Amino acid sequence: MTDLLTHAPITEIEDAHTSGAYFKRPITLARGQGCTVWDEAGSAYLDATSGQGVALLGHCHPAVTAAIAEQAETLITCPEIFYNGHRAGLYTLLASILPAELNRYFLGNSGAEANEGALKVATLLTGRSQIVAAKRGFHGRTMGALALTWNPKYREPFENWTSRAVTHVAFNDLDAAEQAITEETAAVVVEVVQGEGGVYVADPDYLQGLRRLCDERGVLLIIDEIQTGLGRTGRWFAFEHAGIVPDVVTLGKGLAGGVPMGAVCWRGSLGTLPQGTHGSTFGGNPLACAAALATLSTLCSEHLPARAAESGAWLLEALRGIDHPQIREVRGIGLILGLELRGRVTPVLKNLQDRGILALPAGFNVLRLLPPLIITQAEMERIVTAVRESLDE
Ligand SMILES: *Cc1c(COP(=O)(O)O)cnc(C)c1O
Repeated sequence: MTDLLTHAPITEIEDAHTSGAYFKRPITLARGQGCTVWDEAGSAYLDATSGQGVALLGHCHPAVTAAIAEQAETLITCPEIFYNGHRAGLYTLLASILPAELNRYFLGNSGAEANEGALKVATLLTGRSQIVAAKRGFHGRTMGALALTWNPKYREPFENWTSRAVTHVAFNDLDAAEQAITEETAAVVVEVVQGEGGVYVADPDYLQGLRRLCDERGVLLIIDEIQTGLGRTGRWFAFEHAGIVPDVVTLGKGLAGGVPMGAVCWRGSLGTLPQGTHGSTFGGNPLACAAALATLSTLCSEHLPARAAESGAWLLEALRGIDHPQIREVRGIGLILGLELRGRVTPVLKNLQDRGILALPAGFNVLRLLPPLIITQAEMERIVTAVRESLDE
């Protein structure tokens, strides 16, 4: 078995069996440390994707690695029908970083699952079932989360399965949201920065307006912080930039330092879920909870939200300083940054990769940078130089 894994042509085996659902890049990653990942041949790449927004602390942070190793030897599985100290610890830490009102949590295993949970919370705790979501929004690919996701390419093949309970309205347009809300609306769902959608930042006025509107109409405000949460934008949560407190917040991606985990967080004043209305075999397992505890503790002790604010401000200005006709706009907040190009992003991503930098697309013409929050000044300078060169080709 070990032989098979180490000597077989990995890409051929994967290509023969993969679902086909992914746009795959011809790189076989073998290990990671900090902001660097290495392929099988030992070539290093600066990972400005954080493995799709996950590695907030970089790859294999020693605090997270040690917590996982220790917990793996102690107890891996413990469903939520039993109590566990690491879960209690995680609840306590979440309660200390979130606004005090947001003190009820459901733990799952991914971002999409967190949004599924948020839909249950909204439906069960309001008694209503219609949702208003934003155009260009991305909320995951399981059927409920997919119904919230805007891109018709993802959603339309499954229209008979996904809910028709969702109305999509223009982002950053308060009037559109106001008109879409009815007596049946349970919640409005938005991202503060639309990551997959193209790195579009919500105006603070818009979020404050949504907060007022939701209060007036008795509708829940759900903020999807799966990509923006836990320091990415320079605050613990991106909604803090607008000075609002949502009713429900969803988390995922970096929450457990790379161990799969998602969370729905909501106002305790709304109530709890009736017994039996939701559940998950793996949800809140001690391995993920231990990894999340280590991740959040490290984000705190290393002041990484503040560092992301500083680094992000520098990187944004440096990217804006690139004077190139191919760049239409550079936008973002903290360490979620997008360069909107006049042409397709794919060739630029390829050029960056040839220079040892991994980056992401967001739509067909936006280059998205989502580096670990621990990125150094020297690493950011490398990114800026490589972006400039990659546009020139
Ligand atoms: C990645 C993402 C999701 C989906 O998370 P998965 O873990 O891939 O299911 C949902 N919402 C946002 C904003 C995301 O960035």
